[in-house]
Amino acid sequence: MMTTLKGIPAAPGVAMGRALFFDSEEPAIPKRPITEAQVPSEMLRLEEALIKTRHQIVGIQKKVATELGQEHAEILNAHLLVLEDQSLREEIIQGLRTEKLNVETIFNDVIHRHLKAFSRTEDEYLRERMADIEDVRRRVLRNLMGRQHATLAQLDHAAIVIARDLSPSETAQMPKQYVLGFVTDVGGRTSHTAIMAKSLEIPAVVGLQVATKRIRDGVFVIIDGGHGDVLVDPDEATIERYKLEQRRYQEASRQLLQLKDLPAETLDHHQVILAANIELPDEVPSVIAHGAQGIGLFRTEFLYLNRPDFPTEEEQFAAYSTVAEQLKPHPVIIRTMDLGGDKLASQLQLPMEMNPFMGWRAVRFSLARPDIFRVQLRAILRASVHGNLKMMYPMISGVEDLRRANEIFQEVRQELQREGVPFAEVFEVGAMIEVPSAALTCDLLAQEVDFFSIGTNDLIQYTLAVDRVNEKIAYLYEPTHPSILRLVKQIIDVGHAAGIWVGMCGEMAGEPPLSLLLLGMGLDEFSTSPVQLPIVKQVIRSVEYSFARQAVEQAMKLRTGKEVEAYLIASLKQAAPALVE
Ligand code: PEP
Ligand code: MG
Repeated sequence: MMTTLKGIPAAPGVAMGRALFFDSEEPAIPKRPITEAQVPSEMLRLEEALIKTRHQIVGIQKKVATELGQEHAEILNAHLLVLEDQSLREEIIQGLRTEKLNVETIFNDVIHRHLKAFSRTEDEYLRERMADIEDVRRRVLRNLMGRQHATLAQLDHAAIVIARDLSPSETAQMPKQYVLGFVTDVGGRTSHTAIMAKSLEIPAVVGLQVATKRIRDGVFVIIDGGHGDVLVDPDEATIERYKLEQRRYQEASRQLLQLKDLPAETLDHHQVILAANIELPDEVPSVIAHGAQGIGLFRTEFLYLNRPDFPTEEEQFAAYSTVAEQLKPHPVIIRTMDLGGDKLASQLQLPMEMNPFMGWRAVRFSLARPDIFRVQLRAILRASVHGNLKMMYPMISGVEDLRRANEIFQEVRQELQREGVPFAEVFEVGAMIEVPSAALTCDLLAQEVDFFSIGTNDLIQYTLAVDRVNEKIAYLYEPTHPSILRLVKQIIDVGHAAGIWVGMCGEMAGEPPLSLLLLGMGLDEFSTSPVQLPIVKQVIRSVEYSFARQAVEQAMKLRTGKEVEAYLIASLKQAAPALVE
């Protein structure tokens, strides 16, 4: 019988096909009863798996030592210590004898007990070891069961992927020809997984909470990514209805693309820049196809994901200069790496953090690891002669970290100068405004940068204290909250008063009713996922600038996010009825 599940709309479009369960991390552990006589042979299987795991880790250690140095390789000693732990073995033997269950189950239970105890301890060192133990647990289980790490890149037939969670790096590896769409239990609208789905133009619904429980492997499903609906085992009439809806969506997108070469200007000729966000250089054709006037955010951290080592200066130079060449004369804003949060680079082996989005990420990480940061800055500067490049730092929290980043940037410039390596003399450097402390001190920051780019995905999560990837509180994530309206308006006004331009690269810039508001606030540049650009352009081309300004004035008087949202939708409906459903 058909059931309809409601989740969070992540990437628009309708997709239908057979469900395929995907879990890259968690090997499915078989539970088998054993007899007392089988305890030694089960223990022997475990010893073999531990030895195999040891060989694998020592192999990785050698590679890390040659590529990154001995010091980095030693981080993996903690993994080896777990494998050698005698008391762990004793606990497992004890478990095998009392529970009389196979060694995979007992090993897994014992490790989970330890992880639980560690998570409660005050001892930071022990908490940091949780990630090591978790890693060892997965490796040993895979070796016990002979299973390799599954990746979506191995998919060889068309399916709708159902997963508890998908990391942004897994999503980036999706073969577009086979992944018709995907559904996850966790995640929010501005999680990088959702953003990646939009970039790949794969319809997706996230934060469904019960998808992996309620959808059986192999069942036929329809997903409507724009509305967040998932229909499980639909009847014929529903399938036909959604096929129609799929064609309607494709036709509407095709129609909007006809605006591609027209300027983003209001009826009374107020112009703004419409740029696109990308994660990887191969998204450039989509950027051009959707008529962007440049790239407002290149999330360069994606170059660091899904690989055992760091991208070299040459690799980064090739990526940045190719993108710059393809887009010129339009600008390309390279954001220095924003690792951390939900974008974890496996080669770093970072300890698990309690609050990763508020932790060691973005420019904080870059300033702590100038060795890695400098490589990127050299590559960016070298690429600057190949097009119209600009650069910005993520997660600036005040003047101090901005100055420190700029100091390193100046040192790298001087270094290149000494080496006689060419780079652009005029080069704009901006700050992302995505931390409330930066928003509230933007008058100070404006004196030291060439532009601002408002990162609302983070600014909203920090201002409203709503984790952007937590589906349980997603209803609180409100771009229209009066606090956000005030902050955004203040950043734009202060930037303009200081004589710099102000853009926005958060997803807020790509939502039609909100683009009316941002237009009226005087935002200079809107940068969003390429697929959202045509509809934003349509909004801008449908209204007078004065109408948008009046809408801002009214919206700023309202008291709740819901009131603001309803007001903006009504205003947009008045100006452009066809754009509102
Ligand atoms: C933002 O925070 O709004 C932003 C654009 O950066 P990211 O989504 O990569 O954190
Ligand atoms: Mg951000």
